[in-house]
Amino acid sequence: MNINLEIQNNVDLLEFSDEHFIIFTRLFFFIMMKRTKVKELFSSPQLGSDVLVKGWVRTKRGNKNIVFIALNDGSTINNIQVVADTSLFDENLIKDITTGASLAVTGKLVSSQGQGQNIEINASAIELYGKCDAVAYPLQKKGHSMEFLRENAHLRFRTNTFGAVFRIRHSMAFAIHKYFNDKGFFYLHTPIITGSDAEGAGEMFHVTAMDMMKLPYNDDGTVDFSNDFFGKQTNLTVSGQLEGELGALALGEIYTFGPTFRAENSNTPRHLAEFWMIEPEMAFYDITDNMDLAEDFVKYLIRYAFENCREDLEFLNKMIDNGLLERLKFVLENKFVRITYTEAIDILTGSSKEWEYPVKWGNDLQAEHERYLVEVYFRKPVIITDYPREIKAFYMKQNDDGKTVKAMDVLFPGIGEIIGGSQREEIYDKLLSRIRELKLPDKDLWWYLETRKFGTAPHSGFGLGFERFVLFITGMSNIRDVIPFPRTPKNAEF
Ligand code: ATP
Ligand code: MN
Repeated sequence: MNINLEIQNNVDLLEFSDEHFIIFTRLFFFIMMKRTKVKELFSSPQLGSDVLVKGWVRTKRGNKNIVFIALNDGSTINNIQVVADTSLFDENLIKDITTGASLAVTGKLVSSQGQGQNIEINASAIELYGKCDAVAYPLQKKGHSMEFLRENAHLRFRTNTFGAVFRIRHSMAFAIHKYFNDKGFFYLHTPIITGSDAEGAGEMFHVTAMDMMKLPYNDDGTVDFSNDFFGKQTNLTVSGQLEGELGALALGEIYTFGPTFRAENSNTPRHLAEFWMIEPEMAFYDITDNMDLAEDFVKYLIRYAFENCREDLEFLNKMIDNGLLERLKFVLENKFVRITYTEAIDILTGSSKEWEYPVKWGNDLQAEHERYLVEVYFRKPVIITDYPREIKAFYMKQNDDGKTVKAMDVLFPGIGEIIGGSQREEIYDKLLSRIRELKLPDKDLWWYLETRKFGTAPHSGFGLGFERFVLFITGMSNIRDVIPFPRTPKNAEF
């Protein structure tokens, strides 16, 4: 009796029912197939082949017989359309496929009759990785404000706009490394924690391991840092330039590309407290070589974006800024205007415009002045050189006129200052006297000064604010929307 039953059971197991067959083939597909990214499906579609894609549902529509799922996997702005015959799938599975849910889909890649896409997948198996509650999910179909998306920065990558922005941001970072590597520059990692407030900017974040509730004080009431982690006061860097110069004066041409920090309370659409900066530094370059490099570099990046980020740029041009492509092309095709600060002042005083900040030789140029020069007067990117020494940093090379320094600011339409740079003062005595004039702590700068004592050489460099550049290349208008998790006054969420 017992034996008979067992035999009966075994026979049941060996005979595949239809259901078994389906489960088996589904398992087989998921185990054996390699995932294809959606970008690859579109770039080299193998029509008629079985594919496996994984991604997040953007939309689902259809009726009780058939549903159309737009699936996005982040590799491209384009969604792949998945067509599912509902009779092949569990009713609850189909119900759980809502906007935001994560899926794996296998099926045949076929050409599509529908409008808006030329290929689609006829689903044979769907695995639901993660459901997404349609009511609680913050990203609904309607357009959201940039402010709302900033508050949901953990999810905003899933929108078309932020997908495009962060793919472009990546491409630009990659292109920056490629540009310098191809030119023989070396990527130098300068420190993020520094021991000197070298620029005398006084807008640095302090780094300490001391107990803030029990700070030790000196007799004069100042904080005693001698027992702190580094044995002295330290800060987050505002720039890698000074250390970069040390590298350039041995390796020839270097660049840094890292985070920089400024505790300035600038609540503007162009300032972050934590931003990324690219700082090339080159031995044997004068200010003209420096300008040539800056212009060539920026144009290379625009060309790279045109060649590698076309679809994302076109999307942003359509949805965010209708003038974007034209402006990029314009900057690419035109030589940057080069004028001195003194010439800029003459142009500004010669205009009949009413300024909020007075235009006077010796005053720094304000955003309104820079915008007038770039957007109204020249209508081109402008490089301004030879600024008054009083408004620029101590390390800039002094001109023979005794009044100006070999500084250069590159100003862009819509952005204002995008690059700041200079030829550096390489003459020891001149550098030291400037440091003393400004009452900077020359003892802290002994290492910087020594390069001017031992085999000094003319050299130059500049800093490009990465997010300012990403603003320009994407047409976005607020710097908080081109860095994944912005750090600004009173905001360090995520
Ligand atoms: P700004 O006058 O616009 O504040 P800056 O004169 O302080 O700029 P630099 O110290 O010359 O700028 O820094 C080099 C580059 O770094 C700038 O040209 C800009 O692209 C970028 N940058 C400077 N400050 C910020 C900031 N707070 N957030 C983002 N980028 C910045
Ligand atoms: Mn600043």
